[in-house]
Amino acid sequence: MRITAQNRLLLGPGPSTVHPEVLKAMSTPLVGHLDPYFLQVMNQLQNQLRQVFQTENQLTIAMSGTGSAGMETVMVNLLEPGDKIIIGICGVFGERMKDVAERCGAEVIPVYEEWGRAIDPEQIEKTLSSHPGVKAVAVVHAETSTGVWQPLEDIARIAHSHGALFIVDAVTSLGGIPVEVDKLQIDACYSGTQKCIGAPPGLAPVTMNKAAMDKVMHRKTKVQSWYLDLNMISNYWGADRFYHHTAPISMIFGLHEALRLILEEGLEVTFRRHAENGQFLHNELEAMGLELFAAKGYRLPELTAVRLPESVDEGKLRRQLLDEYGIEVGGGLGPLKGKAWRIGLMGYSSTRSNVTLLIQAMKDLLGRG
Ligand SMILES: *Cc1c(COP(=O)(O)O)cnc(C)c1O
Repeated sequence: MRITAQNRLLLGPGPSTVHPEVLKAMSTPLVGHLDPYFLQVMNQLQNQLRQVFQTENQLTIAMSGTGSAGMETVMVNLLEPGDKIIIGICGVFGERMKDVAERCGAEVIPVYEEWGRAIDPEQIEKTLSSHPGVKAVAVVHAETSTGVWQPLEDIARIAHSHGALFIVDAVTSLGGIPVEVDKLQIDACYSGTQKCIGAPPGLAPVTMNKAAMDKVMHRKTKVQSWYLDLNMISNYWGADRFYHHTAPISMIFGLHEALRLILEEGLEVTFRRHAENGQFLHNELEAMGLELFAAKGYRLPELTAVRLPESVDEGKLRRQLLDEYGIEVGGGLGPLKGKAWRIGLMGYSSTRSNVTLLIQAMKDLLGRG
């Protein structure tokens, strides 16, 4: 049998379901990447991104590539061989940051926490005190492997009091929960388009303040990635419009529309929608007798890791959910592999009726209804 694209409800850890208007914008006739119309869209996009990141940073752009390209952009531009960086690790994406930073030749000082918990600011403080000369502290705001919401305020303050830059992975937080770049003085922050922003995977919004850009512009060594070098790319997004690589034009149109929809709804309303639907899902899952993985008080509304009953074949059930109900959720990673689902209520996917549909399907499948 030939398998064709189906109308899926995407309630996994990404990509999330995309608003029809975003898909429509992506089919806008193609123009050149230096076309005055396209440059106008790019300027608008930068302003939209500044609003969503809650920043006035000049360097606020969409890098070509998925969220991981955003991670790599921040690391390759800020880190030089021998630099020390503290990375908080309590899930897959903290681990990925460590891998990327090590490939830059940096000395990574990991601060581990149990999966399902948030990084303890006191541990960051202790580690900074015992390692002089740390260049940056990095954490994941929304750990998509566990569903943990990492508080940022204390770590931002501690990093700065030791003269370190503060780096935040906002791939699953941007557009779902507040990412207050200027208020928290986050020096470098990156995201992706396919989670709460509600566009397809393919672009990575990145913002850096002056302190971080000073480091980028005054490096001793060249950025080892030609493609991700912000010294060159900022000349394309800036007044000079210097050709670097051909912008993924249709993706930019899509992101522009996705951000327009978010700003039209209003950031506060968007956050409230995510919070309410996430809470509704948590309540319903717990009412079914299922256990949420993330520690209470640290649960993300847009990503929920939930343990399944031990008797259940997780992979088989997930496939049934897809085949019979057209709903995609994610499987567990690491210690949760084969034991849990990761349910995303991101962007356009975050609706009360989607929660109701999923819960009804789960009740049917688990034979508990
Ligand atoms: C999804 C994700 C990434 C990677 O994004 P891709 O679009 O898959 O490259 C990085 N960090 C976090 C926290 C994520 O959830």
